[in-house]
Amino acid sequence: MADAHPPVVFDTLVVVGPGLIGSSVLRRAKTYGNLARRLIAVDNNPDVCARVLELGIADEATTNGVAAVAQADCVMLCVPVGAMGAVAAQLVPAMKPGAVLTDVGSTKVSVTEAIAPSLRADVPYVPAHPMAGTEFSGPDAGLVDLFENRWCLLTPLEATTAEALQQIRTLWTRCGARLREMTPAHHDRVCAIVSHLPHLLAFTICGTADDLAGETRSEVLDLAASGFRDFTRIAASDPIMWRDIFLANREALLEMLGRFMEDAQAMARAIRWGDADYIVNKIERGREIRKSLIENRQA
Ligand code: NAP
Repeated sequence: MADAHPPVVFDTLVVVGPGLIGSSVLRRAKTYGNLARRLIAVDNNPDVCARVLELGIADEATTNGVAAVAQADCVMLCVPVGAMGAVAAQLVPAMKPGAVLTDVGSTKVSVTEAIAPSLRADVPYVPAHPMAGTEFSGPDAGLVDLFENRWCLLTPLEATTAEALQQIRTLWTRCGARLREMTPAHHDRVCAIVSHLPHLLAFTICGTADDLAGETRSEVLDLAASGFRDFTRIAASDPIMWRDIFLANREALLEMLGRFMEDAQAMARAIRWGDADYIVNKIERGREIRKSLIENRQA
């Protein structure tokens, strides 16, 4: 828990987009007191600002992003990846020299490219992606321990200063995350397979079940067993966020989908020809992966 006067990483932290991820950072910062002395939330919607204040997770909440970021020592963009470029273009010119810009977007090539035209030599930028989430969104969805033991992937650019990188590393470590650094392109390929393709499959399988006519469909809904139920949890995710992610990571996602379809075809062939060894081998590999995740504390 927080001690009386913990040293902070930043004096004033501005979180733009206090949704699931942004409000989780704010909750962590408020509870532990070691991320920033002062917390400001920025949201276009005054009702969201009011809710943030009601929840007591920021010292201030405002729709005036320009005025807020002018006071920031760190600005963290937590908006959908498709909005990052426009939000950066509006806010970065108002930042103090030396303040750090960071983001939490789920795709890194598109986000770093979208933000690039707004970058300034006196504002270091540290792209990051905390690999944690739920199917819920908005300021009520945040959790103080959302990032505990989860990976936060950092994709520093050539111009990212060592000092800013270290500050963002410290911030995420204090959120409970484990850190890894990689290039934006590598990040996008990894996330295409571990996150984006599973969501694509979940949305698709729910659509397929929904398309089944009449009685079969109602039975799907009535009798949904654990396999289908697990897919529906993932498929309940925010449509705008996932639309943006799919479009932003098109190349890597289509490549992984292509590989998956080849493998699914191979499984179909094994089932058709009664190739029991092939089927057992695939299932055993799945079990191994689950075991490794549990050992790795990611399950
Ligand atoms: P969220 O709960 O829906 O919150 C999104 C926030 O962005 C809200 O405050 C929203 O404001 C604001 N916003 C939406 N569109 C905007 C626009 N055009 N301009 C300015 N603000 C806008 O979403 P989230 O799950 O926290 O995701 C936020 C970011 O984190 C995304 O980039 C996402 O890729 C990334 N991320 C998500 C997860 C996950 O699993 N959810 C995990 C890691 C990273 P209003 O509520 O007023 O619309």
